[in-house]
Amino acid sequence: EAKSQGRNTYQFFSQDLTTGTLERLVMESALRGAVARKELVLHYQPQIDFADGSLAGAEALVRWQHPELGLVPPDRFIPLAEEMGIIGEIGEWVLNEACRQMVAWAAEGFEVPLVAVNLSARQIDRDQIVEITAGALQRNGLAAERLELEVTESMIMREPERALDVLDGLRALGVALAIDDFGTGYSSLAYLRRLPLNRLKVDQSFVSDIGHDTNGEAIIRAVIALARSLGLSAVAEGVETQAQAAFLRAEGCDIGQGYLYDKPMPAASLRASWGRGRKAAD
Ligand code: C2E
Ligand code: MG
Ligand code: MG
Ligand code: MG
Repeated sequence: EAKSQGRNTYQFFSQDLTTGTLERLVMESALRGAVARKELVLHYQPQIDFADGSLAGAEALVRWQHPELGLVPPDRFIPLAEEMGIIGEIGEWVLNEACRQMVAWAAEGFEVPLVAVNLSARQIDRDQIVEITAGALQRNGLAAERLELEVTESMIMREPERALDVLDGLRALGVALAIDDFGTGYSSLAYLRRLPLNRLKVDQSFVSDIGHDTNGEAIIRAVIALARSLGLSAVAEGVETQAQAAFLRAEGCDIGQGYLYDKPMPAASLRASWGRGRKAAD
């Protein structure tokens, strides 16, 4: 019966639902269970120490490997997972997998100093994240200082006192904390001063301004100065050209990340590319 009505059903959908809604329904049902079906995968993007071109760490970036949709980027399913209330499950998988990979690399003789994992707003809303993080470290035997958690200004400013508590709890575990996309949200300097941070990540939109927008360049200088005066490292995201890298290094930025060095890639590729003590050329 269902089969014979297949055509009509399709017409019904195309008349009464927008393509966006249909896509969403398909995505939702496919995403539910993606973790259990082992369809999520982490790619890693190297972070380069501007001082000597060495590998300072890697950011773990999740992708969804769907049999028909292909490799789905996080912007297309993380917001959906948040709305569906399944981001906790995905986030926990990401944390565990990043820790597991660090230890697996080390066993292969590839020591990555630090792995950075992105958290979502829903994850830092709850104290549970402290336990979950502790569990991932312990289960895999990874030293806390080799894990960095990235949060954004808007995630913190939604409920700053609460975020402060959660971040203090995470910091007490010994993990490093970074603010991602810095400069694109609004944050209060009063809170920034109180947060137990290690790094500020200059958003890639400012990096792409280098060479043609002096306002963007001024913001980069200000963020680097702010990081310095708070005792934090400055990391630049979205470094695509030598000219951008030269500007950032000259301005005292500590670490660069971007297509200039490598795109995010599977764990085995990171090891093949950076495993023999490679240094980025100047
Ligand atoms: P993000 O954390 O700010 O990550 C940086 C994004 O910029 C990544 O996109 C990366 O592939 C891209 N990128 C890196 N270098 C360059 C460059 O030189 N030029 C350009 N144009 N882009 C560059 P991606 O992997 O698609 O991730 C997008 C966003 O999805 C991330 O932004 C992060 O907010 C979120 N995300 C990724 N993985 C996770 C995760 O495991 N959990 C959560 N909650 N969010 C995640
Ligand atoms: Mg990030
Ligand atoms: Mg970012
Ligand atoms: Mg982002």
